[in-house]
Amino acid sequence: MNAASDSSAPSLRQLPPLREIIARHGLNASKALGQNFLLDEQLLDRIARVPGPLAGQRAYEVGPGPGGLTRALLRAGAEVVAVERDRRCLPALAELREASEGRLRLIEGDALAVDEAAEAGRGAHIVANLPYNVGTALFVRWLGGEAWPPWWASLTLMFQLEVAERIVARPATPAYGRLAVLAQWRSEARIAMKVHRSAFVPPPKVMSAVVHIVPKAAPEGVRAATLERLTAAAFGQRRKMMRQSLKGLPGALDALATLGIDAQRRAETLGVEEFVAVARAMDA
Ligand code: SAM
Repeated sequence: MNAASDSSAPSLRQLPPLREIIARHGLNASKALGQNFLLDEQLLDRIARVPGPLAGQRAYEVGPGPGGLTRALLRAGAEVVAVERDRRCLPALAELREASEGRLRLIEGDALAVDEAAEAGRGAHIVANLPYNVGTALFVRWLGGEAWPPWWASLTLMFQLEVAERIVARPATPAYGRLAVLAQWRSEARIAMKVHRSAFVPPPKVMSAVVHIVPKAAPEGVRAATLERLTAAAFGQRRKMMRQSLKGLPGALDALATLGIDAQRRAETLGVEEFVAVARAMDA
């Protein structure tokens, strides 16, 4: 369907405010489901712009809740597939689907159990204010695996600021670790915007940030599984020298020697490219 970007079918514009939707459907935020809702439509429109123009593009949203971000994605002209675990949200989302002129498909269930590539289709942009309890698991799944490029075109994800900083961290900083290597070895990762805790209902204890990730060409000859084992061992004991932390990982110390990397260094001093080179040498 070719929706124009200003789209908006009058019916989308005529929807009642999110606060009213939440009150009418009794959507009290559940801590167990990681619910912190965003209600500021301008902020939501800014988040929906992070992936770039979405008119006529597909978007996959995890956890639409009362549908604030979903509305913004629809206003931007996207065709949206959204998966929500909380059944209480479904009547509110069904109203939004009515207003969407066929551009919203809802899946009820656990995002961890969804066959995403099949449901959202290759080339979809993933956009989500993630539930904190499953956010990291989904992130690791989206960035892991041997197949590259992945099924998704980009990730636009809300995280706690501290997690976002770990994703974009540079070497030799306290935040640098497994998440940074995972996010950066075959993707570009950046913080697109910081979001104050007061923007959420209820406000979480910490600040948040939207991370934007776009896949790039994967380095040749490197298996994701080897890199994952390497970073797990190296950062499992990040204060130790690698000759200690990597000694139980077959081939790792030999790979350091072959590459002329000093085994007395600590993992946090190794750049992403160096980790890639070590993983490649381990499999050679
Ligand atoms: N997108 C909404 C917003 O921005 O206001 C809600 C975001 S809230 C942080 C997270 C949402 O994810 C909640 O609606 C929650 O019910 C949903 N959720 C939690 N665990 C989930 C899971 N395993 N699969 C799908 N949705 C889940």
